[in-house]
Amino acid sequence: MRTPLLSLAILAMASTLSSPGHADDGVYRTKVGDFQVVALKDAESQRPLDKLIANPEEIPKAGVTPQDPTTLRVNAFLVDTGASVVLIDTGNGGSAGSTLANLKAAGYAPDKVDTVLLTHLHGDHVGGLLTDGKPTFPNARVFVDRRETAFWVDPEREKTDSRKAAMQKARESLAPYQQAGRLTAFDGAGEPVPGIAAVPAYGHTPGHTAYLLESKGSRLLVWGDVMHVQQLQLPNPEVALVFDVDARAAAETRKAMLARVTAENLPVAGMHMAAPGIGHIRKAERGYAWEPLK
Ligand SMILES: [Zn+2]
Repeated sequence: MRTPLLSLAILAMASTLSSPGHADDGVYRTKVGDFQVVALKDAESQRPLDKLIANPEEIPKAGVTPQDPTTLRVNAFLVDTGASVVLIDTGNGGSAGSTLANLKAAGYAPDKVDTVLLTHLHGDHVGGLLTDGKPTFPNARVFVDRRETAFWVDPEREKTDSRKAAMQKARESLAPYQQAGRLTAFDGAGEPVPGIAAVPAYGHTPGHTAYLLESKGSRLLVWGDVMHVQQLQLPNPEVALVFDVDARAAAETRKAMLARVTAENLPVAGMHMAAPGIGHIRKAERGYAWEPLK
């Protein structure tokens, strides 16, 4: 039974979670023109570096002594355009992810989400699509680059592929949306939602996609998994992840994106960037530096 005292404690907690400007309480709000953007913390875990980095010989060139294990954060982003409630990625889902809880804390019921844009089909991005096997977002259309579905959703190849578990997770997460006619596999650049453009950022996965928000002359690049371990990959963008399907292409994409966002002074939101997950990238003596929004 819930006591009045406990209710008060929950209320106090909820108001803390939804207060703007707090970088690491799970919910962080900012504006991009007329768009309300809410960074939702999904998870934060410690991962041993030797299990994360595909080319450890690049680590010394970063010029830092990395913590080992290092922190891997997961974020998702809600964009309320006024006309549409858009969720970009869904986090881990289940007990491993708090995207759904933070979405609710931010004042959005899951059935109010009308669009889910996926950067790619890794489990920490699609896991939140289902809750107990059913669509978490029953009224949402789901968008993903067709190179992603072609690569990850292939029941025949899944039987023998070394990425079997990841393929199964991707296939199962999309299935109910596909069966309901709510899945759109798009082809490269386009504008799935007015004011939100798909920007091909292939490499980490074959159809990995960033999304560029633009409203009233303000912009934000939600760059997905262009970067995972910023303490190493900002000073040395050549550092690659074991999860990169094509590490070479991922590094080229990372370097191109870093050059672009610094040249254009374009703020970035990243699924694995440090709290609150939104900030500016600045040129630094060695590579680049992260300047989080406060
Ligand atoms: Zn990821």
